Amino acid sequence: TLSSETLGFQAEVKQLLHLMIHSLYSNKEIFLRELVSNASDACDKLRFEAIDQPDLMQGDTDLRIRVEFDADKRTVTVSDNGIGLSREEAISNLGTIARSGTKEFFSKLTGDNKKDANLIGQFGVGFYSSFIVADKVSVLSRRADAEATDAVLWESDGQGEFSVTQVEKADRGTSVTLHLREGEDDFLSGWKLREVLRRYSDHISLPVQMLKEEWNEEKSAQVKTTEWETVNQANALWTRPKSDITDEQYQEFYKHIAHDYDDPLAWTHNRVEGRSEYTQLLFLPKHAPMDLWDREGKRGVKLYVKRVFIMDDAEQLLPMYLRFVRGVIDSADLPLNVSREILQESRDVRVIREGSAKRVLSLLEDLAENKPEQYAAFWEQFGQVLKEGVGEDAANKDRIAKLLRFATTQGEGAAQTASLADYVGRMKEGQDKIYYVSAESYAAASNSPHLEIFRKKGLEVLVLSDRVDEWMLSFLRDFEGKTLVSIAKGGLDLDQLADEEEKKHQTEAAEKFKPLVERLKTALGDKVKDVRVTVRLVDSPACVVVDANELSPHLLRMLQAAGQ
Ligand code: ADP
Ligand code: MG
Repeated sequence: TLSSETLGFQAEVKQLLHLMIHSLYSNKEIFLRELVSNASDACDKLRFEAIDQPDLMQGDTDLRIRVEFDADKRTVTVSDNGIGLSREEAISNLGTIARSGTKEFFSKLTGDNKKDANLIGQFGVGFYSSFIVADKVSVLSRRADAEATDAVLWESDGQGEFSVTQVEKADRGTSVTLHLREGEDDFLSGWKLREVLRRYSDHISLPVQMLKEEWNEEKSAQVKTTEWETVNQANALWTRPKSDITDEQYQEFYKHIAHDYDDPLAWTHNRVEGRSEYTQLLFLPKHAPMDLWDREGKRGVKLYVKRVFIMDDAEQLLPMYLRFVRGVIDSADLPLNVSREILQESRDVRVIREGSAKRVLSLLEDLAENKPEQYAAFWEQFGQVLKEGVGEDAANKDRIAKLLRFATTQGEGAAQTASLADYVGRMKEGQDKIYYVSAESYAAASNSPHLEIFRKKGLEVLVLSDRVDEWMLSFLRDFEGKTLVSIAKGGLDLDQLADEEEKKHQTEAAEKFKPLVERLKTALGDKVKDVRVTVRLVDSPACVVVDANELSPHLLRMLQAAGQ
């Protein structure tokens, strides 16, 4: 019959479980954060589905999360009255990993526990972290739209298999019971569990409840009563005044919504009033997610409407080039039944998107100015994505241009540390252009023969080697009135920078090599447009240039490679 079956975990799950147990052991209490986070997500989902189907609430509208322990059975249980899981959902959600970036994650693992712990963190630890402290996990769940007799019991020892059994459950929702491993008795204490919950789950907007305890003289111990009490603040973090929120609370909130294991790099929290009313709490992660370059990858922020969760990954609320930003936007104007289609066309959404982009840019400007080390860390992870903004966001192009960082011939190797303002500040007397060289790698760009004359003259040149650079520069023609020019293009007007002797030398050379130039022209025929004597080269005998108004060789190669 269908009533009970045993299934194998997907191979990746087995690998993840193994890694989890071995690399996250020193931070084992995070399992509680993950289970409470899932319970909170499940309640959010129910609240959202109940907008259209109020029957799902079955008269029980007080959504909450409960944490219990049983010292005799050595179990800890986290339960919720949220959306619940069907049998099929239990099998697929608790037996496989369907997250984007899974392939990248597994390909990056090193076998070094410490490094892998970091990677797992970025990937998201989730439900499977239960097995760090438990040698058996039982999930009892009834979906909000299922009959009492149609509940599911999922059980596993985290080795390679799990079982699913059809059972009865009186009320909707999920309870996850951890059978603790030998030596994990610390968690069989109300004091300990409360301490962990306050640390990790204070920002959860639903009440997290535990049974009240009282001092019992006879037993001279704390004894549980039958009364539930709320142990967290239980109001949505972003609705609290900034001054009431500690850095730790912001950090924990970030980990909850971003499924990240690491603290965020920075955040910005604002209530916006006026034409459109909304609250935004936006975070910059420390690390690029696995799926940053995946077109299908997750992006966007969580959307709430008047504190009701509406959707994850609302990509319409931020421009594409800020896809690394995580956070929450809570709108007072959008309808509760807003769909992705409506979001695409809504004027309110456009206002929010523009406002949010400005806030993120301000946050970046603040980092760049006041915390250059943090900004450098940001740039290393996300600089290439931010560059897309020069083309994508015409309205903020100038602000983004100031945030760009480049490697230059006067910088520290390939490190992208110089701003355009730094460059302009170092320009030579008489120099009125910003020079750059571009190629598919830093090594190729920085060894370009075109650089010889610039080196000789001590002129700084930006060294570009990111894929997005040429495309970006087609939108960024000048900066503070200085044109950006490729040094690989013809007609470079270096004359103003030449001294008298050089000018004389140039005229003489042109005269002297006239016959050679003529012979080269005949020999090369149609292959070239022109042959000229140049003062650009110092050590190399010759180089190829393109006309000022033509595509640069690097871009040409990129277009050819793309089949254009
Ligand atoms: P994530 O939360 O990042 O999706 P998890 O590993 O924490 O990943 O959880 C996996 C999935 O299991 C969730 O996406 C959800 O579908 C399901 N799940 C876990 N806990 C619950 C719960 N308490 N109620 C309903 N579904 C749950
Ligand atoms: Mg989770």
